[in-house]
Amino acid sequence: MKVLVIGGGAREHALCRSLSLDPDVTALYCAPGNAGIAEVAELHPVDPMDGDAVARLAVQLKSDLVVVGPEAPLVAGVADAVRAAGIPCFGPSKAAAQLEGSKAFAKDVMAAANVPTARSYVCTTPEEIDEALDAFGAPYVVKDDGLAAGKGVVVTADLAVARDHALACERVVIEEFLDGPEVSLFAITDGVTVLPLQPAQDFKRALDGDEGPNTGGMGAYSPLPWADPKLVDEVMASVLQPTVDELRRRGTPFSGLLYAGLAITSRGVRVIEFNARFGDPETQVVLARLKTPLASVLLHAANGTLDAEPPLTWRDDAAVTVVIASHNYPATPRTGDPIEGLAEVAAQDEPTAYVLHAGTRRDGDTVVSAGGRVLSVTATGKDLAQARERAYTAVGRIRLDGSQHRTDIARKAAGAQG
Ligand code: AMP
Repeated sequence: MKVLVIGGGAREHALCRSLSLDPDVTALYCAPGNAGIAEVAELHPVDPMDGDAVARLAVQLKSDLVVVGPEAPLVAGVADAVRAAGIPCFGPSKAAAQLEGSKAFAKDVMAAANVPTARSYVCTTPEEIDEALDAFGAPYVVKDDGLAAGKGVVVTADLAVARDHALACERVVIEEFLDGPEVSLFAITDGVTVLPLQPAQDFKRALDGDEGPNTGGMGAYSPLPWADPKLVDEVMASVLQPTVDELRRRGTPFSGLLYAGLAITSRGVRVIEFNARFGDPETQVVLARLKTPLASVLLHAANGTLDAEPPLTWRDDAAVTVVIASHNYPATPRTGDPIEGLAEVAAQDEPTAYVLHAGTRRDGDTVVSAGGRVLSVTATGKDLAQARERAYTAVGRIRLDGSQHRTDIARKAAGAQG
C-alpha cells in the first residue's frame, strides 16, 4: 500500500512512524513533512491547504490512501478534493469537518443526538453576550465560533475579560463551566461503524501545575489509571455512536477520526468539544500503544468497510509524551535555533524513547527549530512511572537554546498508578 500523509507536525510524525512499521505499507510519502518525518517518508513540498495540489500529488504518486492530519485542510475541503480524484482518503468531508470548524454546529448536532454537553448560547450581539454571561455566572467560558487552533477559548472568573473576548468574536459560544478532569477519546469511523481507541489526557497550559497560557498541548499520557474502566463503553454509547449516526442522518456522514474532548464531571461525562482529526499530542501516546497495524484500519475507514476490521489490539505498555517548545511559545515563538542531542537519543534511548518532530527543518547538516512546538519526546514503559522516567531522560539529552517544557507531565497519574 502506498500512503500519502498530509501535514508536518509531531502528530503526522507519529502517524508516519506507525505506518512505516506496518508491513502492508510499501511506500510512504508526506507533504510537507518536517526534518524528522524525512527519515521515514519521502517529502513533497505541497501546500496542505491546496486541495487540487494535494489531489494531483496523490494521483502522481499512485497513492492507495491519503491521510489528512490537521484540521485546517479538512475544514477547507481537502479530503473532498482527494476523493473527487478517485483516491481513498482518511479524513472527513468539509461538511462533516464542521463538527470541529464551528462550535455552534457541534452544539446543534449534540442537541439533536442527545449527547451530553455544557448548556450554551450562541451569541452575535452585545446584548446576547451580556445575557448569556449573566445567566451562567463565573467562571465564564467564552469560545470563538470558528477555528482558532485551541486559542479561541477563554475560561476566566473575570467578567470584563470574558466580555472583551466575546465582543472581539464575530459569533461566540458562551457556555456553562464544566468541572472535573479532562479526557481525550479518539474513534476511527467510516460514518457507520465506530472503533474507539484508548483514552489519553493532554496538558494544555504552558507551565507546570496547569499555569500559564493555553497552548496546542505540552504533553500527554495513556492509559488513565484513575479513569473508570467502563468509560470507553459509556462514551461510545452516549457520545460517539449517536454523533456519527446524527451526521449520517443529516446526509453529511463523518468518516475519519472523531475526537471527543470530555470532562468527567460529578454529574457524569460531558463533551467539551469535538475535533475532526487526530489530536496532538495525544496521538503520540495512543499510537505508541496500538498493536494493530494502522494502514488497513485507516483504509477500511476511508472505504466504508470498517465493519470488516477486527477489534483493535493494544500493548500493556504505558506511554508518555513531553513537548519541547521554543523560546517564548505560545506568544511569539523564536525559530531558527539549532537542535542538538537527537543522535544521542537515537543511540541510547530507542526504541523505548524516541523523538517525534513538530516544528523542525533541516539546515545543511543541522536540524533547526521552525515552529512553536518543536519536538514531542515519547516513551513507553511497563507503567506510567517508567514511561515518564524514560521520556524525561531523553528530554534531558536535547539541547535547544531558550526552549521550555513542562516537568510534571503524567506525574500525578504515575503516582496514582504506583
Ligand atoms: P476547547 O477548544 O473547546 O477544547 O477548549 C479549550 C480548553 O478550554 C479545554 O480543554 C478546557 O480546558 C477549557 N474549556 C472549554 N470548555 C470548557 C467548559 N465548558 N468548562 C470548563 N473548561 C472548559
